[in-house]
Amino acid sequence: MLEVGGLTTKYGAISALRDASLTVGSGEVIGLIGPNGAGKTTLLNSIAGLLTPAAGTVTFNGADVTGSSPEKLLRAGLALVPEHRRIFTDMTVEENLKIGGITRSALERSSDLDEMAELFPVLRDKWTTAAGFLSGGEAQQLAIARALMSRPKLLMMDEPSLGLAPVLVDVVFDLIANLRTQGRTLLVVEQNATRMLEASDRAYVLRSGEVVATGTGAELRERDDLFDTFVGGGES
Ligand code: ATP
Repeated sequence: MLEVGGLTTKYGAISALRDASLTVGSGEVIGLIGPNGAGKTTLLNSIAGLLTPAAGTVTFNGADVTGSSPEKLLRAGLALVPEHRRIFTDMTVEENLKIGGITRSALERSSDLDEMAELFPVLRDKWTTAAGFLSGGEAQQLAIARALMSRPKLLMMDEPSLGLAPVLVDVVFDLIANLRTQGRTLLVVEQNATRMLEASDRAYVLRSGEVVATGTGAELRERDDLFDTFVGGGES
């Protein structure tokens, strides 16, 4: 579904991402792990059209979408839940979700709203509450639900458990497990490498802007050279 080939992205003269390649197949849950500053956010943002790569290609469902705008990618079926959530705090839960479904018809949007109310009981209970009053865990669920409202073929999430209390981290990983069971395709950046390896089919390890390893959780955990990915900077 997604093929990233040799992607390089720079901030000025500095390459934050160098020659990164990865693939995500339909129905796969893929983790993207690595220490602080490894380039994980840069890679997601380069795929989602928020950053323009200096080199390399992004192919989505067979089409070259390198450098496409986020709006065009969203319409093609690629949605991103950005770091720090970025929900509209003055709007209600329902209004935030409706905005997420802006690319859909009114009829589709209405049935998608019902689906989100079922998938996220916490949001159903706060349907008419302004999003600014939600807890961190509720806000994260709203951000994910809003992205799902566009019916993405591929949903990318940037650090969904960041800054959440341990019990809410569990809620986020339960949700990822739930979406995986539904056969959805996910690409998830996580600092919490150990949990992400359990939650994914495969993962890529980034370090200093480069993909240094890939494999299943079991394969990656056996690699002594990746120890620092899991301990000291790799755990939240
Ligand atoms: P974190 O987990 O801390 O978010 P990350 O793996 O997502 O880390 P990035 O945020 O992609 O890493 O950052 C990769 C590198 O690019 C880091 O060295 C960072 O300091 C640098 N960087 C990120 N954003 C910018 C920017 N806007 N301008 C200049 N340098 C940046």
